[in-house]
Amino acid sequence: MRKLLPYSYYGGDHDEQQLFFSELRPVAIISQSVGILSWFVAALMLAASGQTLQASVLFGLPGMLLSLLISLRAPSVKALVVSGIIGTTSTAFAFRLLTAYCPDPTFWVLPVGTVLTLSAAPIFGGMLNYIGAAVGVWAILTIGNFPARPGELSFNLSLLVMGSSFAMAIYLHAYFLNLRVRSHSARRELAEIAYKDVVTGLFNRRKFTLEARRAQQLPSQLPLFFLMIDIDDFKKINDTLGHDAGDEVLIHTAGVIGKLGMGHLSGRLGGEEFGVLFRGEAADALDFATALLDGVRAAAHPPRTVSIGIAEFDRDSDLSVSYKRADEALYLAKRHGKNRYVLAGAIQAAA
Ligand code: GH3
Ligand code: MG
Ligand code: MG
Repeated sequence: MRKLLPYSYYGGDHDEQQLFFSELRPVAIISQSVGILSWFVAALMLAASGQTLQASVLFGLPGMLLSLLISLRAPSVKALVVSGIIGTTSTAFAFRLLTAYCPDPTFWVLPVGTVLTLSAAPIFGGMLNYIGAAVGVWAILTIGNFPARPGELSFNLSLLVMGSSFAMAIYLHAYFLNLRVRSHSARRELAEIAYKDVVTGLFNRRKFTLEARRAQQLPSQLPLFFLMIDIDDFKKINDTLGHDAGDEVLIHTAGVIGKLGMGHLSGRLGGEEFGVLFRGEAADALDFATALLDGVRAAAHPPRTVSIGIAEFDRDSDLSVSYKRADEALYLAKRHGKNRYVLAGAIQAAA
């Protein structure tokens, strides 16, 4: 029940709302524009037929225009709900005022109400909001304006039309909501598969690179350091203890990187190689590298070690330049005996 509640109002959690918003907004704009256009055409037809329309016929128009304006500028699905409620009820009101000039005003109650409630059903944000708007539409169209009197056959038939179109509208609303929810969770699952490394749960190389490029574009007071971390003698672990034991070491190492690197971008670059984009001063980056060396050593028995190549992240050249510099520093760390870091350019090693 608690899970269903957000769907009753705004259509799900924050992520879902973002997606629904981008899908619903153009449909809301189009349907509200069609409503306004139809109203203008109907008004022109009535005027052309010789009816003298009074200014009061325009009273529904501000609501219709306001709803379109809100949809055009809407920042969120909540704003779309507001524009949907204003749009459907003011359109019903505008048409009621207009159809009063028709020879048989009550005739129009059913077609206008049915079109309005059915067309809004698939796109409305939230079931309860939609039911409220639909009840409002029928109330505006029918109060004092019902197509027949109780006891007449047409009265019951009208109720049947209203009831069945309402039931269909609710079904359509639920059906489209379900489609949106399923498409959202499918996207979420695909993003997991596309961006996460299955063994360690860290970002994979694709996502790490994507996020590193994004970080490169962001203005920041603090420098960025790229740390390339490689497990020492990993092949030996695989060869002597087996591939599964190798995977365990990968998971342990990733755990240390993920924990200590919290708040910084980290990922598995491939094989037994990991990357961290550290935001901070050089001294902090080196302290962080030391903590990583200690953390990995302490995480397993017998202790495993890593070597780290560090390069200041170059914001002005391609990412591959920073990767290459960190890789060269890593190579030096290996050559100087492993289980240490090297800062590119500094030729400084720490065990
Ligand atoms: P160095 O200390 O110089 O880094 O040597 P190394 O043995 O760690 O490096 P090398 O590049 O020689 O070997 C890396 C090994 O990592 C070879 C490959 O079979 C293994 N490997 C790559 N991906 C995985 C994986 O997902 N799981 C396991 N268990 N092993 C992997
Ligand atoms: Mg290695
Ligand atoms: Mg390697």
